[in-house]
Parts: sequence; structure tokens; C-alpha cells
Amino acid sequence: MICIPIVASTTEGALQEIAGALEKADIIELRIDYIKNPDLPKLLSGRKKPVIVTNRSVQQGGKFTGGKKENLALLKQAIELGADYVDVEFPNQLIEGSRRLQPARTKIIYSYHNFQHTPEVKKIYKEMKKSPADVLKVVTRANKISDNLKLLDLIKLARSEGKQIIAFCMGETGILSRIFSCAYGGFLTYAALAEGKESAPGQISIDEMRNIYRIEKITQKTQVLGVIGNPIAHSMSPLMHNTVLKEMGLDYVYLPFKVEDPGDFVDTARKFSFRGFNVTIPHKREIIEYLDELAEDAARLGAVNTVVKQDGKLKGYNTDWLGAVAALEKVTSSKDKNVVLIGAGGAGRAIAYGLKKKGGNVTVLNREEELLMARRVGDNFGCKYGGLKELDSLEYDILIHATPVGMWPDVVESLVEKKNLRKGKVVMDIVYNPLQTKLLKDAEECGCRTIDGLKMLAGQAEASFRFWTGKEPPSGLMEEVARKRLSTTNLHE
Ligand code: NAP
Repeated sequence: MICIPIVASTTEGALQEIAGALEKADIIELRIDYIKNPDLPKLLSGRKKPVIVTNRSVQQGGKFTGGKKENLALLKQAIELGADYVDVEFPNQLIEGSRRLQPARTKIIYSYHNFQHTPEVKKIYKEMKKSPADVLKVVTRANKISDNLKLLDLIKLARSEGKQIIAFCMGETGILSRIFSCAYGGFLTYAALAEGKESAPGQISIDEMRNIYRIEKITQKTQVLGVIGNPIAHSMSPLMHNTVLKEMGLDYVYLPFKVEDPGDFVDTARKFSFRGFNVTIPHKREIIEYLDELAEDAARLGAVNTVVKQDGKLKGYNTDWLGAVAALEKVTSSKDKNVVLIGAGGAGRAIAYGLKKKGGNVTVLNREEELLMARRVGDNFGCKYGGLKELDSLEYDILIHATPVGMWPDVVESLVEKKNLRKGKVVMDIVYNPLQTKLLKDAEECGCRTIDGLKMLAGQAEASFRFWTGKEPPSGLMEEVARKRLSTTNLHE
């Protein structure tokens, strides 16, 4: 079941939110601690979906500022009005009082929250299950991905003992258990009515939960894909991959994982039903020490952006170069062409490797005075190299920009002066936020053929998808959904 919390601050506002939630929720949680002088008879009469009434105090992470007696009186009133559930916090004397007051209709949810970390939850459950509650609820903050497994294991334990339980992790790191808790037998999971209507950290919106992550389709057999990075909230990959998985009807879900400790994540990926994952900044190099095997491209680049789990072993690949080559080849071949590549960081290295493989004559330019990075790329992959000034004297067929310059918010910046942009040449910028960078705008004005950064992003995502599923994604779909999202949202808001 999916529960939508109602977090309006007035009775009228709450009634409006309830009306909005009715179609989307299986059950509604009325957070009366958010409401100033809640009119419970009005809020509970004629309801069309089961309602949980919750009145969490400030000390318990809620907004109710009254005392225990007042809290009990409100819950008692909810019970008298026939609320389907009331939620009381553990440890709390209220539960005994609530139980005594309980007519057959109202069920008690006895809940434990920890907003700081995930402690030994089985110990807490052992104490809680002594209570006469109908449903137990254990919700903790995940500080590492492995915390999610503790909560999913707890659900299995409780279900094996015939207990109803709600259990998952809060916070950006808690997405795995939020998405999988019901598949493991959890009584419900929460989703916000809309962005900005969350009642707890890490809550996903109902539309995302149903349309992107396809929560109803998730079972214990669903294979997990995802992307690890830090930060990760603005990643386009979940949208791109889940759209294609949905379109193809494949039983995978792709999740964004905010990861500080890649070792802990890899441990979790080994234990849980992962098929693989993408790796982004800052873990592309560090991840290597935790893997069992490396493909040749990843070994030569010293960076992994795609991991595949096969027969319990984790193998690292690099699809950034495949994405860059795919993007370019839609417009032109690089064979025997003179390519100027600006940037010798992770992406620059991958592009240099890919274009050399395809027979391009690549010159890498970088800003540093001693040219250590540019020289390394040159020596590793057989490219010429130099400083940015050399752009004035180089003839090229293809110019590729692979530094962050021009990225939001510095959208008026470009490393290439207009005098160096020549009609008919191909100019590719791998920055995709904004879609049309200053460089691409100038290039268009000078009559160049341009390729934006989304083409490479979609290209690397499609290549990863093929490694995991062995299937061909529908042509252009990843790029199309990402383009639509980027043209309607600012990733940095
Ligand atoms: P990185 O490893 O940090 O390398 C950054 C490169 O840019 C280095 O060569 C660096 O030079 C240079 N640079 C940074 N600031 C500069 C400045 N102000 N002026 C001149 N050069 C500058 O980063 P990366 O992973 O290669 O990523 C580079 C950009 O590509 C980022 O914006 C990233 O979002 C984008 N990207 C896009 C895709 C895609 O699929 N479209 C994929 C990967 C990356 P120094 O060595 O002198 O610091």
C-alpha cells in the first residue's frame, strides 16, 4: 500500500490535500500535528480511503507543541470518531491508554523513529512486539546504503513471526528500502503528494513512485540498477533508464544512490538483487579497488562508470567513451580527422581514448602550465598535446569541449573565441546544463555543425543498458526524455 501524508497547516488545506490524494493513495496519513486547531470531525467524516491519525510531538520529530494529556485527548477523539488507525510513538505510555480506549474499529500503529542513524533495529523490534499494537513501525535514517538491508531484514523477521510492520530508512540514502519495503511484506510505504509536501526526509513524490519507479511492479525478484555519486539528486539517469525499462516491460528498477562510502555500497550490491550500477563523480576511480574484474577500456582509462554483476562477480566498464563516439558518429566519422579536444580530466581522457580507437588524429589541450594531465593523456593514448593558446594555430575538423566551463551558473563563459570557430566544422560540447552552451551558440552563429552534451550522456547510458540487459533500448528514447526534462527544469534549483 502507498500512504500519502497530509501536511497542510489548516483544516481547509488538509481537506484540499485529501481530495488531491484520494485517487493516488491507498491510505492517507493525517498529520494533525501540522494543523492548527484541527477539526477532527470534519477531517474524518465521509472519508473515502482509510486514514491514519498521527500527532507527533516536536521531541518526536513532529510539530505538536502541546503536552501528553492533550495529545492523548486528540487521539482519543480520533478513535471515537472511528479513525482507521492511530499512530503513537514508542516508547510511550499512550499506547496503553489508546488500547484501553480502542473500540474494535481503530487499529494502533506503534512507531519508532530515529532521525540520526540506524541502530540495532532487531533489539528495538523485540521490545516493541511485546506491545498490543496492530502494526509496528520502525523508521530510521540511513547514513550508508547497507542500513537499508537492516530494515528489509527486519520486515522478513516480523513477517515470519506474523507481525504487521512498516519499516524503511529515511534520508536520501534510504531509497532502496522505501522502494522495496512492500515487496518484502511491509504494510505500507509513504509517498509525498507532490514535491515540497514531504513529511520526512527522503520521501519520494507519489508520481515518481508510481510512474518512474513503478512501485506496484516491484517484487523481491526485481533486479536493481542505479547510479552512485555524491551529490546525486539531480542525476538524469533514473529518468532515462526507468523510462526505457518501463517501455520494454523489463523487471528492473534504476535508483539514485547518494554514496559516501563506495565499499559499503559494493557490499550491499553483492548481497542484494543488483544487476549493476553506474558510477559518477567522485567515485569513478576509487570504485576500482572494490571490483573483481576490469574490462580493458576501464583498465586503460583508470576509471569505471558502469559495473555489471554476473555470477556474483562485479566487473567494471567504461561507457563514457562509447557515448562520446556514438554522439559524434551521428554527425561525422572521426577516422583520419583532425580532432581538437579541450580538457584532459576524466571525460577528456575517455574521449581521447575513444577517438583514437576510431582512427582520429587527436590533439588534447589543457589549461595547466606544466601540461602534466595533457601529456599523460597524450602518452597513454598516442595523442598530441598542448596548452589552450595553441587553439589559435591549430587546423581541425572536429572540436570537442570537455571541461566544466560554460556550465550553469557560468553560462556566459566559453574557452573558445569566435575567431577559432570555422564554418562547416563540427563542434561538440559535453556540458549539457544548459543544453545550449555559449560555445554551441557561438558555433552555430559561425556556421558550425553542433552536438550538445545530452547526446553523449544518452549514448553512455544506452551502452550501460546493453551491458546489463543484453537488449537494445528504443532508439532515441533516453535522449528524448532527458531533453524534455532539461528544457523544463533547472537542475540547480
Ligand atoms: P574533471 O575530471 O574534473 O576534469 C575537468 C577538466 O576541465 C580538466 O582538464 C580541467 O583542467 C579542466 N578545467 C576545469 N576548469 C577549467 C577552467 N576554468 N578553464 C579551463 N579548463 C578547466 O571533470 P570531467 O569528469 O572530465 O568532466 C568535465 C565536464 O564534462 C563536466 O562539466 C561534466 O559535467 C561534463 N561531463 C559530461 C558528460 C556527458 O555525458 N555529457 C560525461 C562526463 C562529464 P585542469 O586539469 O587544469 O584542472
